[in-house]
Amino acid sequence: QQTTYSPLTLITPTAKMSAAVHGGRAKCLQRLIRLDMPVPVTVALSFDAVHDAAKGRLPDMQTLLAPFGDDPLLSVRPSSQDPDWGGPGAILNVGMNDARHAALTQTIGVRQATDMYLRFIQSYAIHVARLDPDAFYLPDTPDADSLRAMLETYEQETDEAFPQDVAAQLSEVLRSMARAWDGTTARLLRQAKGAPVDAGLGLVVQAMALGVGEGECGQGVIQFVDPATGAPRVVGRYISQYQGQELSRKSEGALFLNRDPRGPSLEEICPDQFAQLLSYGDLCRRRLREEMEVIFTLQDGRLRILDAIRVQRSSRAAVRIAVALAEDGIIAREEAVMRVEPAALSELLHRQVDPEADRDVITGGIAASPGAASGRIVLTSAAAQASAARGEPCVLVRRETTPEDIRGMHAAQAVLTMRGGVTSHAAVIGRGLGVPCVVGASDLVIDRKADQVKAADGRVFAVGDMITVDGTTGQVLAGEPPTLEAALDDTFQTLLHWADDYRDIGVRANADTPADAQTARNFAAEGIGLCRTEHMFFEGHRLGVMREMIFAEEGADRRAVLDRLLPMQRADFQALFEIMAGTTVCVRLFDPPLHEFLPADKAGMRDLATQLALPLPEVTERVQALSEYNPMLGMRGVRLGIAIPEIYDMQARAIFEAMVAVRQKDIKINVEIMIPLVSAMREVELMKARLDAVANAVRTKSKVDFVYRLGVMVETPRAALRAEDIAGHAEFLSFGTNDLTQMTYGLSRDDAGRFMSAYVKQGVYAEDPFHTMDIEGVGELVALGAERGRRGRPDVALAICGEHGGSRSAIAFCRAHGFDYVSCSPFRVPVARLTAAQLTL
Ligand code: PEP
Ligand code: MG
Repeated sequence: QQTTYSPLTLITPTAKMSAAVHGGRAKCLQRLIRLDMPVPVTVALSFDAVHDAAKGRLPDMQTLLAPFGDDPLLSVRPSSQDPDWGGPGAILNVGMNDARHAALTQTIGVRQATDMYLRFIQSYAIHVARLDPDAFYLPDTPDADSLRAMLETYEQETDEAFPQDVAAQLSEVLRSMARAWDGTTARLLRQAKGAPVDAGLGLVVQAMALGVGEGECGQGVIQFVDPATGAPRVVGRYISQYQGQELSRKSEGALFLNRDPRGPSLEEICPDQFAQLLSYGDLCRRRLREEMEVIFTLQDGRLRILDAIRVQRSSRAAVRIAVALAEDGIIAREEAVMRVEPAALSELLHRQVDPEADRDVITGGIAASPGAASGRIVLTSAAAQASAARGEPCVLVRRETTPEDIRGMHAAQAVLTMRGGVTSHAAVIGRGLGVPCVVGASDLVIDRKADQVKAADGRVFAVGDMITVDGTTGQVLAGEPPTLEAALDDTFQTLLHWADDYRDIGVRANADTPADAQTARNFAAEGIGLCRTEHMFFEGHRLGVMREMIFAEEGADRRAVLDRLLPMQRADFQALFEIMAGTTVCVRLFDPPLHEFLPADKAGMRDLATQLALPLPEVTERVQALSEYNPMLGMRGVRLGIAIPEIYDMQARAIFEAMVAVRQKDIKINVEIMIPLVSAMREVELMKARLDAVANAVRTKSKVDFVYRLGVMVETPRAALRAEDIAGHAEFLSFGTNDLTQMTYGLSRDDAGRFMSAYVKQGVYAEDPFHTMDIEGVGELVALGAERGRRGRPDVALAICGEHGGSRSAIAFCRAHGFDYVSCSPFRVPVARLTAAQLTL
């Protein structure tokens, strides 16, 4: 049976009310009344009543005004379903007129009475009669002359005397607030906050508690937690002889100041009322199950509660408040887990530009790796390294980065590129290293000759100029605004441990280096789901050795060169296994095309010629011979493994020997080896035979037995289609959705940034598929691959390890298809843990 609500409801403990009918503020006021708080008489107008008012069908004024007695003074405030959706500003002191003014001069004095009347005329003129705000400024001294002048201005502007009848005033106030809700700006703003198109507005009409007059009078706001940290703390402001709204807008800062900041605090002048407020705060917390900010007045020492709203909070405070409420048994742990927005966690994991700081925005790009950092502009990796060596923070600005830039990226505080999307080299490496990164800032131009970067607005930034990269918002800022440190406190860990109790899918990290692995471990990743080993070949002098290997003529020469890389790789793996002790590490064998290791320009070729003691033309020719028209679809991944097997042999040996070494230290580790870019079952068969041979050799030599698991990256469409026979040779399948997206769309992950925004703007793609997993296309292939893989091996483990891995939609997708885990960049691990838990609740 449908409950019917009347359009006007006098709020009492038993009145029939609902937030979906009267709005959140009205419903909250009823809760306060039920808790016996001294709330002034309040009437709620339902969404329907307000909707009618916008159309000019006003409620019956006599009924509305009846509860307020003769000559009332009223406030009207918005009550949208969700307070975050906003609403028109409150209008206070409805009912002020000449007679009321005269009467008030006797009780509260001429100055206060005149001030109140002036303020009411001003707000009525601007917000209700929609007159020019410039014509209605408040005088320095509210006196009879200024009042007369303002009333005259009103009359001149409207050709009518200022309305004296409270019913007439109130009807116009209701009508104008109702219409303001229908305005385009208001609608767009609330829709941006998730409000539905037809979101309703309720209004509450409340008897004014004056806050001015004899005895202790004033208005204040009080809350019981610190809005920045969420720690228990009384924060607020109280101003004697004051009424208004400004207090609630900025409540942090001064603690219960009087008008004179050196004056006594509210606690000193009104200890009983202060104690009462503390008990109300506690009551709100326990019964409304939320930290509330309470708005109150004192009238001759008598406390009134006008309103209570959910405390505005930083992400850090949101975590702490939710955990504290659950620890105090006020809300369930599940609810605490649900109350924290996962995306907000990433704010806590990275340094942020202080939200209060001024932002001098140079340009915007794609927010590719979160966090903010400042540094001096450098245009080359060598300069970045030199800068780091001098201990000077720098920002590496490149058109795009290549694997050769890895050391420069490591050395830089932040990275900025003009090209590329969320899976471009700069973005992937930036996230892996935890270096803030903005990519695709396409309206910046680098002028290498002039050592400058030019912005679209004509500003020029020279090498050495300080800029700030905000990888959380995608903005690039001039100068060095203040930043806030990352904050990983105990409550954060507690919340995530609770989340772990609810989630039903594993979360691993993509981690390439010991530093990444340590981050993954700190964030309680259950293992490494993807260790991209190629980065290991760019470090230090390994690049040179790598180049020698590429230039080797014979397999034997190649093996000899690779033997020099072996101990370094083994040490890398050993470090990784030690950090990840007790978990699983999935190592992916070498993936990129070899030419990425070769110099791209003349100077580089010359260096290489010197290093290899070869004539320059020969080097140039060999480099050219290795170049491919379409390297991402060329000789990379398992294709290299088959064509130049010595590389994988060396990697396998390094992995197995590292396993033996950590075993001797009594460290337990599960090792998985994963083959990239597979498209045919035979590739896996061949690789497995070679890997097993190397494993046997290491077992024999070391006399230590060990096992490893072999898996395949499903990142070509054919691998998904042939997953059934591929799974016959693979214990796990890990879907690499970066390459799979690239190949499913036929869309280069390194070049798509150029037209992606045009595509998204015109609705060709709903979103950048490299950023948001394309469930209906790529997802279909993944689902099909998973199903066929299970047909080939019923207990095959299934995972996803592309950049999509940590996102809500990908996690939901993986749960729906019974995957074992997702793997994402270390900094997204906490976000993924919380998201995965929320999806089960
Ligand atoms: C992938 O392709 O999804 C993947 C994880 O591998 P990479 O990004 O290294 O190509
Ligand atoms: Mg790949």
